[in-house]
Amino acid sequence: MLSGDDDVPARFITEDRWGGSVMRRLADGWCAAVDRDTMRCVIYERRPDVCREYRMGDSDCIGERRRFLARHGDDHA
Ligand code: SF4
Repeated sequence: MLSGDDDVPARFITEDRWGGSVMRRLADGWCAAVDRDTMRCVIYERRPDVCREYRMGDSDCIGERRRFLARHGDDHA
């Protein structure tokens, strides 16, 4: 979910079913701003607040990594 102060390029934004502005996802379900080759954010300097608050290595991050590995195996560990 994007907030009014976010400055994300319009091509990465869409509306959710409730009319809120959110980051667009591609067919693989991942944020459209993830570079699939480097796995880096292509708008890092303009990433939304919700991404700035997400800390690598905290419990949310570790949980997401576990879910990813459960779906895709150790090839991506
Ligand atoms: S930090 Fe990740 S989730 Fe946030 S905009 Fe960048 S690629 Fe998308």
